[in-house]
Amino acid sequence: TKFADLKLSPKVLKAVEAAGYETPTPIQAGAIPPALEGRDVLGIAQTGTGKTASFTLPMITMLSRGRARARMPRSLVLAPTRELAAQVAENFDNYAVGSKLSKALLIGGVSFKEQDKLIDRGVDVLIATPGRLLDHFERGKLMLTGVQIMVVDEADRMLDMGFIPDIERIFSLTPFTRQTLFFSATMAPEIERITNTFLSNPAKVEV
Ligand code: AMP
Repeated sequence: TKFADLKLSPKVLKAVEAAGYETPTPIQAGAIPPALEGRDVLGIAQTGTGKTASFTLPMITMLSRGRARARMPRSLVLAPTRELAAQVAENFDNYAVGSKLSKALLIGGVSFKEQDKLIDRGVDVLIATPGRLLDHFERGKLMLTGVQIMVVDEADRMLDMGFIPDIERIFSLTPFTRQTLFFSATMAPEIERITNTFLSNPAKVEV
């Protein structure tokens, strides 16, 4: 498979080329086509396999039409730690060059005020840790009813950190019609249960 065969937008293909990637990694070759068809994806992959691009590239392609409304993010990426969320945000910035999408990173240790401002402006891609996202929600600053695409990254670490109840709550605040892209390095029983509950006929991609 070549990137050019994957039906990504021309802008995304350009960004991939600029990043110096020659061929898609197995998780990318497996996850990008069903994601672009609008299917749910269950990706079983470790860090270092290129999984961040396997969800960010189709997201950027799919979100390129339409605009975000104030306080109603169009997509949501959940990562277990501040560092991982920041890494996803950095990747997104690289791949979204020229795509005119807005992003906000909601992590702890940063003032709410700056984050509120970004949310108010309208966000295409909201990248967050579960606790901080729910803090904003409880403060009434944010609605999740406009989320079209939701990503859960490193679900097994979410489980280790006790975030599964938060994840379930966040799932329940988003529309049933959302598309879900869910990634975990392992399939513990608790992870399996969550995917059975919240994913709909997912394309399973194991690398
Ligand atoms: P990740 O698993 O998403 O943390 O990605 C691991 C590393 O692989 C990152 O430094 C990416 O920039 C890099 N990477 C992702 N996709 C590709 C690709 N198709 N070709 C070469 N490097 C890549």
